[in-house]
Amino acid sequence: MRLTWFGHSCFLLEGSRKVLIDPFFPFGKLPSVQPDIIAITHGHNDHLGETLRLNRRTVAINEISKALARHGLQTEGMNIGGTISVDGVTFTMTPALHSGGLEMDGTMVYGGGAAGYVIGMDGLQVYHAGDTGLFSDMKLIGQLYRPDVAILPIGGKFTMGPNEAMMAAQFIGAPLVIPMHYSTWPVIEQDPFAFKTAIERTTDLRVAVLKPGESIELKGKT
Ligand code: ZN
Repeated sequence: MRLTWFGHSCFLLEGSRKVLIDPFFPFGKLPSVQPDIIAITHGHNDHLGETLRLNRRTVAINEISKALARHGLQTEGMNIGGTISVDGVTFTMTPALHSGGLEMDGTMVYGGGAAGYVIGMDGLQVYHAGDTGLFSDMKLIGQLYRPDVAILPIGGKFTMGPNEAMMAAQFIGAPLVIPMHYSTWPVIEQDPFAFKTAIERTTDLRVAVLKPGESIELKGKT
């Protein structure tokens, strides 16, 4: 599976299907790739992003799913704790400690809670934590779904920062950690290489720091 980061929380997973998560592109134009499925972690503008314009089959929490369906999108509504299969790709919705308003048509309305996903495709499990603070049930996400990769916010202010994300990485135990949701704006400026050094010095986990637009190939545990 190929994983590409477009900056902030936006990732593209390319395997048997193309899955785009949180399509907000802070550093450039829309990628030319047309995803098969979009997954939205919550309704804030820096996550919902270009969802309406892309107009693909979209996985989201029920409240956002219904709002997007009213705009004509084909949606797959779900909620925290549930797993669905869409075109052979599994989406397990995980909790996230964050607020969850939906910014659409210039107003903020109730958008369900905020969430993360464990996405299963081609034998790999990718955990995208969404916007969240640290919570100890991340240990359960590690035990239950055994993610191969944990994508974690480190920006601080709106989400956990590097210190909390270090503990999150250890709770989850995924062998590869990818930081996100940092340095998009000065208020969430962080040094991802300091985060990488701190984790790799004290644990067996590895951290991949990507540049916006950069891709890596993911391999399984075996
Ligand atoms: Zn948010």
